Amino acid sequence: MRWALIGASTIASQFMCAAFRAAGHQIVTVVSGSADLAARFAEANAIPAFTTDLAAALADPGVDAVYISSTNEKHHAQALAAIAAGKHVLCEKPLGLTLAEAQQMVAAADAAGVVFATNHHLRCSGSHRAVRDLVASGRIGRVLSLRIFHAVHLPVPLQGWRINDPGAGGGVIPDITVHNADVARFLLGEDPQTVVAQSATSGMGQGVEDSAMSVWTMPSGAMVFAHESFTHPFAGSGLEVHGTEGSIFARGVMTQRPLGEVELVTAGGRTSVPFASDDLYTVAVRQFARAVAGQGQPAATGHDGIASLAVALAVRQAARTGTRQTVQYGATA
Ligand code: NDP
Repeated sequence: MRWALIGASTIASQFMCAAFRAAGHQIVTVVSGSADLAARFAEANAIPAFTTDLAAALADPGVDAVYISSTNEKHHAQALAAIAAGKHVLCEKPLGLTLAEAQQMVAAADAAGVVFATNHHLRCSGSHRAVRDLVASGRIGRVLSLRIFHAVHLPVPLQGWRINDPGAGGGVIPDITVHNADVARFLLGEDPQTVVAQSATSGMGQGVEDSAMSVWTMPSGAMVFAHESFTHPFAGSGLEVHGTEGSIFARGVMTQRPLGEVELVTAGGRTSVPFASDDLYTVAVRQFARAVAGQGQPAATGHDGIASLAVALAVRQAARTGTRQTVQYGATA
């Protein structure tokens, strides 16, 4: 496939350019709001063309699909333009700033018959797929609870719009809670119903929260606890799924790389669980290409992106109001 990158971003340069190439695809051009940045990005990432003209890039019949990794407030308009031009779309999370934006994007893609995916990479990690398989096969019995620890220390180069620009979609809830929402939905196969939450600024956030803790109810009766932060240098990341017949401990698995360890504990003892170590983003790109070829769905669909945003918005509203919120999925419910 031939891709246009929309957004000269860190995630594109650090992970996605390599992922597209590892999957055997070409990157045709990069679109940025800044000609200077676009030129530097194209050179640094060996991309043959660059532009600030989104319409021109989308008019190129040599582009099959776009990868949108601009700041969050731009995703909506850029995705709608790409869909109108008949391009398949892999869009970064959160899909938009509001549920209505995300729903409009996905509805437009459905109407146009193009593939639309959300880049929830953690679904593509071998560790998460191993945990999901253990849960789905009943190895831990009935699931009682899921605890997700995703409190990190935001690297200095990323301490820009994420910590000081609400208009760009800053804050730890749009940044990380959306991922945790997708993880919970992926691992447990059900959608959070209600949430209670608290958020805080603990040293980094300027006008946006940099930390959040929330508890979600699930239709099965399972409880989910999620912790996200930008300010925790040594907390480590991971998740635990506890069931009536066993517990799964996955440490160091909320990352962009295929790292960490998974352990299953039952009455029979402790067992280390092996998992595939494929690059998460390459797995996502390959699955996206198969969907474009008519074989199945992307790893995370547009509807998954709507759902993860819906949970994150409920968490933010619960934290702001101090009241329990029912997650509003809108058309996806
Ligand atoms: P960056 O801050 O690196 O880039 C976002 C935008 O900022 C770029 O698209 C670019 O604008 C502009 N920009 C980048 N570098 C510079 C610079 N040196 N000077 C001036 N402007 C610059 O964001 P991230 O890569 O961290 O995140 C981008 C998107 O990807 C977000 O939606 C985020 O949520 C998502 N993301 C997803 C991850 C995942 O694993 N799924 C991981 C990390 C991020 P322009 O668009 O005009 O080129």
